[in-house]
Amino acid sequence: MTAPRRFALATRAIHGSSARDAYGSPNTPIYNTTTFAFDSSAELLDVIEGRRRGALYTRYGMNPTLYALEETLAALEGADDALAFASGMAASAALFLALGRDGIVCVGDAYGGTLELLGDQLPQLGIRTRLLRRDEVDQLDTVLADGASLVFLETPSNPRLELFDIAAIAALAHRHGALLAVDNTFASPVNQRPLELGADIVMHSATKYLGGHSDLTAGALMGARERLDAVRPWRRNLGSVLAPETAALLARSLRTLSVRMQRHNASAQVVAEAMARHARVARVYYPGLPDAPDHALARTQMRGYGGMLTIELHGSGAEAARVAERLRLFALAPSLGGVESLVTQPCTTSHHDLSAAERARRGIADSMLRLSIGLEDADDLVADLEQALHETAPEHHDEPR
Ligand code: PLP
Repeated sequence: MTAPRRFALATRAIHGSSARDAYGSPNTPIYNTTTFAFDSSAELLDVIEGRRRGALYTRYGMNPTLYALEETLAALEGADDALAFASGMAASAALFLALGRDGIVCVGDAYGGTLELLGDQLPQLGIRTRLLRRDEVDQLDTVLADGASLVFLETPSNPRLELFDIAAIAALAHRHGALLAVDNTFASPVNQRPLELGADIVMHSATKYLGGHSDLTAGALMGARERLDAVRPWRRNLGSVLAPETAALLARSLRTLSVRMQRHNASAQVVAEAMARHARVARVYYPGLPDAPDHALARTQMRGYGGMLTIELHGSGAEAARVAERLRLFALAPSLGGVESLVTQPCTTSHHDLSAAERARRGIADSMLRLSIGLEDADDLVADLEQALHETAPEHHDEPR
């Protein structure tokens, strides 16, 4: 049974796919095969020419394990269809090549790989791109008037967890004949569904919350079928489809997405509130805090505030590094969205390739630590942060500050 859209997300996450094997397995079997056989050329042509949906060749995405995963992915975002990719970057690259040839505008901070692709690599192919910082967003109307076919943004953004108004930017993009694509990786469809707010395409690094266990690399695009049909040949010939084994692992993970996100949301709120009270913390960036600049927008646009938060410490980048190294439950590792908590210092990881001046323009301080709050007990996580902040307090060091 494919769960219709009227079911809540938790139900869709479990009943989103209609795939059952001949024995009635409720789980997606792994069709670990590259090709599929037919009884006649006529039947093969029916599938190739789209008269009948069937399995054909795995690189084309025409594999039942992928079909089952994509049905669930589409159901989660309330989309007609979904495409599964070998990574989040593979999804973004295919999206940009397929739908951004007439110009792409990226609004606000995005993942470093996305910024490199848009700022450096796609222009080498003659694709016009513009990267607008958050403080330049009022220029979007003018920039779009110059012509662009795609607007791309992340909300909440990395690492300052700032929000963009999806409905307002979708309306502006559409007035100029452009599409809006939203990287929904940080929020997950449990907390935010951009298509319901007017966006045209949703992109995910499924490596993060959708996978949820730091054990798979995958990406996804969700949207209207006609939009994704334009991307499909690019996935096919770039060869960037997701492997069936990983597709089955991701499908398994999606079944627990709703409960995992509820716990990520609740624990991040507890940690954010505790850090906001701490004397060594200058600022906490988390949309769930009532005094966060985007809290009002978060309340209307999001159903939960997510598991990501950033703390900015009083003191230097070196002091922040010492705190990160002193943590016992948070691993110092550059990813997010898994069951285990992670910490990164944006100036040494995600935003390392930006110049110090550019980081300053984007408000990314050296003393920031980005936390991915996992599924451990929230009080244990707070205690771990408190011990690391205490043990590394400047009065414990003889180094000059
Ligand atoms: N988008 C966001 C917000 C990310 O954090 C990342 C990776 O960290 C990506 C996209 C790229 O995803 P992947 O590593 O699966 O290619």
